[in-house]
Amino acid sequence: MKIATSRQPVVLPDDKEVLACLNSVFGFKSFRSPQDQIVSHVLQKKDALAIMPTGGGKSLCYQLPALLIPGVSIVISPLIALMKDQVDGLRLLGVEAEFLNSTLSASEQAAVFSRIENGTTKLVYMAPERLLADSGYLINRLKSLQVGLFAIDEAHCISQWGHDFRPEYLQLGRLKDEFPDTPVLALTATADKLTRADILEKLNLNHPATFISSFNRPNIEYHIREKYDHYQGLLDFLKDRPDESGIVYCLSRKGTEETAEFLRENGYDALHYHAGMPRDERDDHQNRFIKDQVKIMCATIAFGMGIDKSNVRFVVHIDLPKNIENYYQETGRAGRDGLPSTALLFFGYGDVIKLKRFVENDKDIEHSDIMLNKLDRMADFCQTRQCRRQFLLNYFDEAHAGNCDSCDNCLGQTDTFDATILTQKVISAVARLDQNFGIGYVVDFLRGSQSQRIRENHKALKTYGVGADTSADEWKKYIRQLIVDGFLSQEGQPYPILKVTAKGWDMVKGEEKVLLTKVKVVKKKEKSTVDYDKALFELLRKERLTIAQSLDLPPFMVLHDSVLVEMSSIFPRNEDQLWNVSGLGSAKIQRFGNQFLAIINTYCDTHNISTEPQAITPKKRPKKAKKSGPSKTSETSFLLHQEGLSIEEIASKRKLAPTTVNQHLCEFVKIGEILPEALVEK
Ligand code: ADP
Ligand code: ZN
Repeated sequence: MKIATSRQPVVLPDDKEVLACLNSVFGFKSFRSPQDQIVSHVLQKKDALAIMPTGGGKSLCYQLPALLIPGVSIVISPLIALMKDQVDGLRLLGVEAEFLNSTLSASEQAAVFSRIENGTTKLVYMAPERLLADSGYLINRLKSLQVGLFAIDEAHCISQWGHDFRPEYLQLGRLKDEFPDTPVLALTATADKLTRADILEKLNLNHPATFISSFNRPNIEYHIREKYDHYQGLLDFLKDRPDESGIVYCLSRKGTEETAEFLRENGYDALHYHAGMPRDERDDHQNRFIKDQVKIMCATIAFGMGIDKSNVRFVVHIDLPKNIENYYQETGRAGRDGLPSTALLFFGYGDVIKLKRFVENDKDIEHSDIMLNKLDRMADFCQTRQCRRQFLLNYFDEAHAGNCDSCDNCLGQTDTFDATILTQKVISAVARLDQNFGIGYVVDFLRGSQSQRIRENHKALKTYGVGADTSADEWKKYIRQLIVDGFLSQEGQPYPILKVTAKGWDMVKGEEKVLLTKVKVVKKKEKSTVDYDKALFELLRKERLTIAQSLDLPPFMVLHDSVLVEMSSIFPRNEDQLWNVSGLGSAKIQRFGNQFLAIINTYCDTHNISTEPQAITPKKRPKKAKKSGPSKTSETSFLLHQEGLSIEEIASKRKLAPTTVNQHLCEFVKIGEILPEALVEK
């Protein structure tokens, strides 16, 4: 693979060259859709807008062309805090990259610039104000060089319609006048149509193509739980994830501090983050999280915009987000590396009321109506019995067939029944008791308890004992749901009493049917769809941490979790086999390969894991000595094969090497499930 240098005559790279670069520099075996289309479009020097969700792989769309196009490519980004990381990450891949921003002194900037003028730098990150400062001084200097591409990251910042308008982005409209022959690629994760049209217009793009990828995040599981004793709920959730890293979003600053403290008291490694903290402390907390020195960050929504940590395994919302856009964006910070991740939200109707009050204070009626509407949709999402993934994607105008098998509704963790009569019984009991008693008393009353604590005059009421056929535990669960769904509320501390809400009174008067959820955990889906050796993974992770500390870089930047998982799954024993691991390119193999190979080899030898050392192409998946028959991971590939996917497609979907997938399928040929002819690529 040759990397283009300055001042070469323009010859379009062919597909082979593009794939070679993808493989050797980035270590990826195939493109994700629509990366390939974007890359080839840009390589033809045409303008484009790319809309892909967080974690979709936007960076590759400009980083790869930048290596193949002669000259230097400029990446405009508003996130100054991320630039150094991005450049460090590229350098680890062996790419010559620089950044120019206000964190550098004047002399450092001059040094960077002379390196750029030397002609070896392929990518330069800068903020828009830097590019356009000093009445175009920098622009003029760039004009004397060859600029191969302008990539405009977070392009929605140019639009007032977007959620993050930055006026300095508006000036980027000049770029096409100044550099008419240089392609401009705008990238964003914001999909709404208004913003999209605005970006194209304001950037003044020349016959641009728009590429939109699916907003589905298949590796994120969506779960909603009732917000009742949610601190305990949080502990239950974390119990299954002792070593995982995640974000817990809270509405208030105080909430972040309290939650972090609660988690620390319970033995978890947690810190808080919000905009009211002193700058130093805030940066320190963020840094420790990014570097895996602390696992859980309890934060307000101020946290996240500037972070790019790929191995966030879960995002929990303790409080309700204001709208689905925010929810999608915040949950999207989980699983950027493509590994299975979870989004969990604790939903209580009380939060809807609280947020409504905020919105109603807004003087701008039109704006507040829109916000109220969005809030209602957010509440609908939480209360729906429909596939949550389908609901989310439909909200963003994308079709989805439902039955995703990875949300609580599809996993059958929720099952509803008509609870209209039951609800009427509870509401009338609460009313008869003059809205003066707590859950325990109301339940005893409903069940006709003979307990002495039930007052004699209450025993004479008609509702006394109407719920004797339901157990006390079940009643409590249903009452909690009725609170969550807003039919009842609780007031007073420390002994909260039950009240009927306006919604509750309407319900008894009207014809409305009430559905409640029978909570039954039937299918507990296996958390990880990837079968890998956890003990080896831990050893590799330790090694990665040591390397990261010595380089003062976040561990995920040295190698993604997905790389460690794959190594712990296919046990590469030599450098050739390392090439099979997705996400390992030549620079990283040269630099870190031997360290990891030493660990894997020792581990395989001591644990009697046999591999066939000479098996290089096609690489054989080593099997643990004891195991017989196809493994879980092979089964997954087999199922996709049954669905008609080609080896390449399975490999791309599962982020595995095609040779690995081939090996998986060979296991099924051996046992007669697949005919050998079926594996011959047509
Ligand atoms: P975005 O900027 O869209 O949020 P990134 O560019 O950070 O996403 O990419 C998300 C993750 O996907 C990164 O871990 C990246 O290494 C990985 N990735 C990108 N393209 C591919 C690909 N073609 N094959 C495998 N992994 C990829
Ligand atoms: Zn679903």
